[in-house]
Parts: sequence; C-alpha cells; structure tokens
Amino acid sequence: MTHVLVLGAGVVGMTTALALAKKGFEVFVLDAASGPAEAGASFGNGAQLSYFYTDAMASPSLALNIPKYILGLDPAFRISLSLSPSFLLWALRFLANSTQKAFERNTTDILELALRSRKGVADLSSKLEFDYTSNGKITLFSSLKSLRKAERLTELKNRYGAGQIVLTQQQALEREPALEHYGHSFVGAIWSPYDEAGDSRLFCRNLRILLERDYGVQFLFDTKVRGLRRQANKLVAVTTEKEEIQCSRAVMSLGAYTPLIARTAGISLPIWSVQGYSFTIPAFDTAPRASITDTSRKIVFCRIGDRLRVAGLADIGPANGKFKEDRFSTLLATAKGILPKAGDYDGEVKPWTGFRPVTPNSKPIVGRTRIKGLYLNCGHGSLGWTLSMATAGGLADVMHPGV
Ligand SMILES: Cc1cc2nc3c(=O)[nH]c(=O)nc-3n(C[C@H](O)[C@H](O)[C@H](O)COP(=O)(O)OP(=O)(O)OC[C@H]3O[C@@H](n4cnc5c(N)ncnc54)[C@H](O)[C@@H]3O)c2cc1C
Repeated sequence: MTHVLVLGAGVVGMTTALALAKKGFEVFVLDAASGPAEAGASFGNGAQLSYFYTDAMASPSLALNIPKYILGLDPAFRISLSLSPSFLLWALRFLANSTQKAFERNTTDILELALRSRKGVADLSSKLEFDYTSNGKITLFSSLKSLRKAERLTELKNRYGAGQIVLTQQQALEREPALEHYGHSFVGAIWSPYDEAGDSRLFCRNLRILLERDYGVQFLFDTKVRGLRRQANKLVAVTTEKEEIQCSRAVMSLGAYTPLIARTAGISLPIWSVQGYSFTIPAFDTAPRASITDTSRKIVFCRIGDRLRVAGLADIGPANGKFKEDRFSTLLATAKGILPKAGDYDGEVKPWTGFRPVTPNSKPIVGRTRIKGLYLNCGHGSLGWTLSMATAGGLADVMHPGV
C-alpha cells in the first residue's frame, strides 16, 4: 500500500485524509495540536457552508477603500503595511485581481469549486454529527448602491443555480423574524436559499473517528513540523520537533502556516494571513434561523445547535496571531448593536482569533509541487470549510497510488 503523510489536521487536512484513504492510500495525519481542528481556523470560523457567497476578497470596492483601511477608519477591516518583499509581492498580485473582471471570474471559479464540495458535505452529514443545517443565508445591505452591485452578482450566480432573490426590507423581515430586533437600518437583502452551516471543529472530531474506524487512518498529534528534507528534487523526510519521519509522499495542509514550512523546501507560496475573530455564546430562541451576513459591518451570525457563532474582522498585516483585546471588543460591540436579542452576550462568551490563508485571487492552491512527492492543499482564505471537500477530492484525483 502506498503511504502518504498529511501535514495538518484542520478541515482541509482531514478531508484530504478521507479522499486519499478512499483512493486506497495508507494515510497518516500529523498535527502540532492535541486533536483535529484544535488550533487553526477550522476551530472557530464563521461556520458557514457558503456555497453561493463565494465573493473573492480582492474586488474593486475593497481596492477603493484601501486608504480607509490603512488609516484605521473602518472598524471591520484594517491594513498594516509591511515592507517585506513577500507582502509587497502578494499585495501587488492581490491588487491585480481587484478589477471587476477578475473579481467576477474569481468569484465564479470559487463558486464552481464550492458546488463540488456541497454534495460531499451533504453525503457525510448522514454519517457524521456536526450541527449541520440547511437554513439558507440572508445578506443585508445598508446602501442602495451596494445592493445594486450585489444584484448584478446575483444574476451571475443564479446561472449556476444559486436561486438567490433580492428582498425588500419588509420581505427580509417576513423571511427572518429575528431581523425585527436588528439594531441598524438596511435597505434590502439577498436571500440565498441553498447556503448551509455546520460546526467544522465538530465535523473534524467526528471525521477522525470515522477515518480511524473505517479506513485505518493513523494520527500523530502533539507533533510540530519544523521543515521538509529533500534530496535533489525528491521529498525524503519531514522533520518534526520530536523526530525525523522518512517519507516520500506528503501533503501540506497547514493552513496559514503552510508557506512557512514550504519555504524550508525552497517553495514560496503567495499566501497572506488575514486575521479574524469570532465568539460563541448560548443562542436565545430569538436568534436567527438563517445565517445573517451584514456586508457593511462585515460580520456573520450563525446558529450552530444551541449556540450562536459570530465571526468577523479582517486584519491584513504582519501576522503574529496575538489576540488583540480591542479588536475583539469591536466585534462583540458590533454584534450586540446589530442583533441584541440573538444570544446571551453577557453570559459565557467564548472568544477566538485565527487566520484566513488568503491567496491573491482567493482560490486555493491544490496539486503537485516541483518537488517529487510533495503536494499542496492550502490557501483556502475565507472559505476553507466550504471548499474543503472539493479541494480534497481534486487533490486525490491528482495523486493516485503509484504516482
Ligand atoms: C474569522 C474567520 C471566519 C471564517 N469563517 C468561515 C466560514 O464561515 N466558512 C468557511 O468556509 N470558512 C471560513 N473561514 C476560513 C476557514 O476557517 C479556513 O479557510 C479553513 O479553516 C482552513 O483550514 P485548514 O485546514 O487549511 O487550516 P487550519 O484549520 O488553520 O488548520 C491547520 C492545521 O495545521 C496545524 N499546524 C500548523 N502549523 C503546524 C506545524 N508546524 N506542525 C504541525 N501542525 C501544524 C494546526 O495545528 C492546524 O490544526 C473563516 C476564517 C476566519 C479566520
């Protein structure tokens, strides 16, 4: 049997392990944390399976607002400039993807990928418990200008079966009564009936059980990777803090940390970490059933089981992963202002911060590298949970035993 080592047990690594095991590989998964989805973005993300909200991060409106973000005038989005060559190169490529044409192309490419993921998640939902819901998504707009722009994108997405409908404020209230307590004004909304949600951490934990039981996948936790060792153009080992593991085939799915480890093998990846925050509180009965996205405040609300997950903020800059109290307070205060009756904000609040590993075109990097035996499944940006089943399947099609 052909062995493969999957580096990283976030949602991307775990789904990769499943896809490879199904192809007949003998799979080992390695992670620095004590269990799957314990340390990375798959732990505390927005819980959205946003099959039709696949908007690329680089866009004309983001590009227009860059001065505002640099000056710290938008509470939800910050850019701290870095003069490092890798940041400058990434930023230039990001800007090149900010034209309307590139934005629409990238958004629909990601949508096609998301649609491939959708069936895989639905199939697994009968085998795994992960607070999976299919209650749709309502995206709110505070200005007519932004609603009109989104309408144009809706037309494009509906060609792919999105079934999205533009709603007046009144129609949005009828569809989601929780919006009655909405603390700001909105001019209209887009209803996306086929978007779903689920807890990606729970998904990973239960997927581990399935992988061990049905496919004999083996896990090595508390094992931090330091680097990769190659001879000439061939992967020969993965070096960890504990030992060196001989291996001729490995997949890098280390989320935001993939570029760091790839560099040890001389591979440079166009991925920049964009820090975000979330928190989880007990949900009240008055919490929305559908997921709610407030576009102007860049925040998402999602009910997962009896909990409410709120996620948002995007801080681009030198990544150190530190939890910044002031940024978290911004998210908490914004959420309270928007949907004050959705959950117990004054009870047990579980805060979290993590990174979106963002590529200039927001598309994941999947496939071979120039080093024989070394593969990539990384750079999933804001949509790693949504896209994971598709990218895992795509990679498994590239790698098949004997290659
Ligand atoms: C605030 C926020 C909200 C988001 N909301 C959504 C959403 O609603 N829907 C959606 O689809 N996506 C969302 N995302 C994005 C999504 O969470 C990520 O794209 C996805 O989790 C990436 O998965 P991953 O497995 O690649 O990385 P991660 O989940 O980060 O996992 C990487 C793993 O690698 C391990 N690791 C790292 N370095 C090492 C090392 N040196 N040695 C060993 N192990 C290591 C870590 O321990 C971790 O387990 C959000 C992200 C953020 C930050």
